[in-house]
Amino acid sequence: MTTHTTDLRDTRGRPLRDLRLSVIDQCNFRCPYCMPKESYGPDFPFMSSSERLSFEQLARLARTFVELGVEKLRITGGEPLLRKDLPRLIETLAAMRTLEGRPLDIALTTNGSLLAARAQSLKDAGLSRITVSLDSLDDKLAGRMNGVDFPVARVLEGIAAAQRVGLAPVKVNTVIERGVNDSQILPLVHHFRDSGVQLRFIEYMDVGGASRWSASQVLSADAMRAIVQQHYPLAPDGATRGHGTAEIWRHADGAGSIGFISSMSHPFCGDCVRARVAADGKLYLCLFSQQGADLRPWLGEGQEAQLASRVRALWEARSDRYSELRGTVPASGRTHAHKVVRMSLVGG
Ligand code: SAM
Repeated sequence: MTTHTTDLRDTRGRPLRDLRLSVIDQCNFRCPYCMPKESYGPDFPFMSSSERLSFEQLARLARTFVELGVEKLRITGGEPLLRKDLPRLIETLAAMRTLEGRPLDIALTTNGSLLAARAQSLKDAGLSRITVSLDSLDDKLAGRMNGVDFPVARVLEGIAAAQRVGLAPVKVNTVIERGVNDSQILPLVHHFRDSGVQLRFIEYMDVGGASRWSASQVLSADAMRAIVQQHYPLAPDGATRGHGTAEIWRHADGAGSIGFISSMSHPFCGDCVRARVAADGKLYLCLFSQQGADLRPWLGEGQEAQLASRVRALWEARSDRYSELRGTVPASGRTHAHKVVRMSLVGG
């Protein structure tokens, strides 16, 4: 049984266990559902390196969150591998211990473009595992979906390198947009069956950045699973989703598992134990928050106790359940319910 020396809970009784740290707001891809070219052009005011939290500030933040009960860190962005010397940060994080004295589970989400060259140094620094985003195996379609014609083969090289160095389990995130890449569901399943990689299909969400989102483009996780099951029999994994985001199904013939992330059709706010800190030091308690709480004033050396009481107070006051409130997959034609912060800043 887990015993935590912190009893921190929000108003809905949710503990704080996961922290997503966005280390940079820039990305070298322009996925239309996240950072569309027309909104993120050459003149977009991304943060300069001096505006981003330093590694020292990020480490101080992580240490404080760990003292409040966090056991899992996810490094994200923007594209986290664009952040210079990232393994140096990971080394510091990997030296931290949970309240039970165990190493932290440290994961990273990347578009894979720089992974082949970096996998070994990330592993050596102490990264536990990695998630790579890939929306299509077809080069033309993938190029459109990453917005910069980045070749699929190079992302696959990154995935292979991550597997080779033991960044296990490697997961692949695929956002499915109805009528755009639903044709890729079966080819992706076929490709990653029996490979040790866990594919995870994500419902297209109306997060900040997805300025072209409309409900009619959402293919529900149940519909995606039905498509897979017509060709590949699946059985529920048995394990409950717990605090994870994906519902896991296993290939009936033992060829591995697939995750389905149903943030739109089956929101999992009640299980959400996750906080996010953006590259500018703002704390977001939900991906759908409209504003964050600035933690920068408490990120100086020697301010850890103040930082901890600030975060504790914010978490204790947390009552959000935005995904649940906006209902199940809405009637087609609906666009954004409200203005949300851009995902590339706050981290996916
Ligand atoms: N650059 C990294 C990457 O590509 O994985 C990390 C940041 S990215 C914002 C994190 C994840 O969010 C990616 O897997 C991406 O596909 C997902 N994502 C972005 N916009 C989304 C949307 N509108 N709906 C669902 N998932 C989205």
